Amino acid sequence: MTFDTSLSCAQSLDQQDPLQAFQQEFLFPQHNGKKAIYFCGNSLGLQANGVKGAIDQVLREWGEQGVESWFKGDQPWLKVQERMQGPLAKVVGALPEEVIVMNTLTVNIHLLLGSFYQPTSTRFKVIMEAGAFPSDQYAVAAQVSKLGFDPAEAIIEVKPRAGEELLHTEDIIAAIEAAGESLALTMLGGINYYTGQLYDLAAITTASHSVGAYAGFDLAHAAGNVPMSLHDWGVDFAVWCSYKYLNGGPGGPSGVFLHNKHGDDPNFPRLAGWWGYQESGRFLMRKDFVPSKGAAGLQISTPQMLAFAPHWVSLEVVERAGVQRMFDKSKRLTAYLEYLLHQLNAKGAALHIITPTDPAARGSQLSIYFEQNGKALFDYISENGVICDWREDNLSLSGGGVIRVAPVPLYNSFQEVYEFIALIQQYLQLDSHSGVAANPSQNPIQP
Ligand SMILES: *Cc1c(COP(=O)(O)O)cnc(C)c1O
Repeated sequence: MTFDTSLSCAQSLDQQDPLQAFQQEFLFPQHNGKKAIYFCGNSLGLQANGVKGAIDQVLREWGEQGVESWFKGDQPWLKVQERMQGPLAKVVGALPEEVIVMNTLTVNIHLLLGSFYQPTSTRFKVIMEAGAFPSDQYAVAAQVSKLGFDPAEAIIEVKPRAGEELLHTEDIIAAIEAAGESLALTMLGGINYYTGQLYDLAAITTASHSVGAYAGFDLAHAAGNVPMSLHDWGVDFAVWCSYKYLNGGPGGPSGVFLHNKHGDDPNFPRLAGWWGYQESGRFLMRKDFVPSKGAAGLQISTPQMLAFAPHWVSLEVVERAGVQRMFDKSKRLTAYLEYLLHQLNAKGAALHIITPTDPAARGSQLSIYFEQNGKALFDYISENGVICDWREDNLSLSGGGVIRVAPVPLYNSFQEVYEFIALIQQYLQLDSHSGVAANPSQNPIQP
């Protein structure tokens, strides 16, 4: 990929973008009457145009057919999972029966730990990454304590080396090997939400299995962001939310992957509920639980049709875009953002990107670390129509924080990346001249 710093380069990259038309399928937040530059798909993906219609349709079916909607029509509610499993399986590299949509993310972390964390007096440890998303830390600690172990002893946190921000795969593997037969489970985020680092899930899974432990992942920042092959890698389980890169709506439902080596085992320990019962017998209301095969057997409750509607719409968009084209564009878009940031540095900007430079070790998010004054830059770009986010330093590197920038392939353009960089450049000049900001969108400065 060869880039240059001209606006025409951004425009020609947009012209060559096979997904360009998909931008029109989303609703964009507005800033001063103009489309905002939305680089926050890692936090809440945008609303697809079709969402409202899909929710209206569920409301209409409910109104017109009541309970019969479960069985009636072209898309009976009872078949809602089948509608989503195919596209979702392609997103995470699974067989359709290995994925299911249910509950919300942290709830599913607890449920899957309920199945996979069955400690004994000798095998009870869990490996996590230091600085994991807080909900994951709380959930694992709660499960460990509930079963009578001390989290301080049972949870092993793998940390970056002194003076570094990222984890080395070899350090994760070394921690797994050192824990050996005391290790029950390795549970990492697929992509760390703060640094944007994508871990080597295949190698971590293999190493965990080699000491007799399970490997499970929280893919909140990976699902819909990077290609994965959960089935082929032999990952035991994974969970993710739909509302980040999968545009499933605020608080939308969570996805679960359960490898069929477990899903096809009728004795696999499930925290059962009636919706996990084999569909053919579910409504016979028998006493003993007979699980559905695959991940479907993990379902506990009736699917929330209104909350699911945005997600099946967003999965239809992903299906039409094609996951491979999404991931290909993501690589180009992120490389372009990185290139322009480096060009700013060449002019003396000193922006420190902590996300890996290796495209195979990251998704679309770049985290720019600031020891100080990062928040002021963040406020400036926010006031000028860029939506991204600011996170305090959770690794206590030195008390600063990061601006997380995530240009996503379905609805972001190369020109937006260009305009974002122009704003940063303008801010840095402003800083030294204390001048008045011109409107950058009317007067783009060449990065
Ligand atoms: C976003 C995110 C969550 C959020 O969990 P909810 O239960 O959906 O609120 C959990 N874990 C990780 C790693 C996340 O990135």
